[in-house]
Amino acid sequence: MIPHTIDIPAGMSTKVFVLARGALNDLPAVLNEMFPGKRPWILEDDNTKAAAGNKVVEILKANGFAPYPPYTLPGKPKPHPLVSLSEEIAKMIPADAIPLAVGSGVVNDLLKVASGMKNIPYVCVPTAASVDGYTSAGGAMVRDGYKMTVPCPPPTAIVADLDVLESAPAEMLAGGYGDLYSKVTAGGEWLIADALGIEPIEPNVWKLVQEPLRRNLSDSKNVEFVFNGLAATGYSMQMYHDSRPASGAEHLCSHIWEMEGHTFRGESVSHGFMVAVATVAIIRIMYFIIDHSADEARKMAKPGLSREERLAEIDKILVKGCYGAAGDTARAKLLAGAALAARRELIFRQWQLIRERLKKQLYSPEEAIKMLKDAGAPTHYTEIGLPLDQFLHAPRAAQLIRKRYTCLDMLYEAGLLNAAIATIA
Ligand SMILES: [Zn+2]
Repeated sequence: MIPHTIDIPAGMSTKVFVLARGALNDLPAVLNEMFPGKRPWILEDDNTKAAAGNKVVEILKANGFAPYPPYTLPGKPKPHPLVSLSEEIAKMIPADAIPLAVGSGVVNDLLKVASGMKNIPYVCVPTAASVDGYTSAGGAMVRDGYKMTVPCPPPTAIVADLDVLESAPAEMLAGGYGDLYSKVTAGGEWLIADALGIEPIEPNVWKLVQEPLRRNLSDSKNVEFVFNGLAATGYSMQMYHDSRPASGAEHLCSHIWEMEGHTFRGESVSHGFMVAVATVAIIRIMYFIIDHSADEARKMAKPGLSREERLAEIDKILVKGCYGAAGDTARAKLLAGAALAARRELIFRQWQLIRERLKKQLYSPEEAIKMLKDAGAPTHYTEIGLPLDQFLHAPRAAQLIRKRYTCLDMLYEAGLLNAAIATIA
């Protein structure tokens, strides 16, 4: 019997989720029950070794395990989620080992992808409530300079010790809160795509993230709330086989800044902090919809561009050339002529319904700013060192880089994207 387990939705690849104070002490039971006869092999970095790695080794040894010597990545500069590094790690894992990722987002992603390459299970021991990626399938990686999600199974077991999570640096919890906050707008995007018949909401997946969301966001200092919210988000992605339940235009904006190589004071900005700033911007953009009736919106709408005009505009938006295959994605989803006119008509027909749904789903921009500020997360582009033009360029470029239908697509197709973006300047 493994103590302190928390129920996991049926059908997940993740089988065990332990979240408790002192949960590291449950590791021997998890390993004995799930991976009998396997020798633990730990991936960590200098910081997470001190936070939990040493203790994990001590507990394992005291319980009759003979763990391999841990592989410790340097803590400074922070390890990068390079596919090439995962390939190296995969080669290092011995055949009779059960790998354990003791760390936060990057350490976990590196080992998740490495274990996926070897087709073996792994255990996640998170050291901060900083991202929703622990429980998701796929790793957020970089290959040849491009950010990508590498498909691979999620951890078979997660052992999250609240004492460890609470001792993480405060900005990591603030970042996790920012990432969790983005589920507000991610839900808004899905409500829009559903109202337009483009991507219907799947109620089971929706409930998993959205039902407990307001409670989990109600106390940013409560590590258990934040971690549970992030874990639920990861499960929703396992269930839906896509990141739709967890990520909308706010994540696409943060991907744009990442692809542009944005740094602040010589360091990359954390995922949660970029997403927090982008989430406030997307709430404002969605409030453009809430603030205008369908009639007002129709009157303000700019005429649609011809295919050629729009293609020229797309080339200008993507001029920096650092966005991977964005041009192809943008061309593939481009509507023009009669197809655009029909979509526009549909948008204005559903405008009132979308307004009502968003009003119910979102916190107001003022509320959102207050909640994120209280959590210690940034809400203004200057707080993460973005110049205004780079900040404003993001929603325009974000609309082009993925197939996912977001509020930015809706507003572009309605001829209102520029008017909506003007509200965030
Ligand atoms: Zn995220």
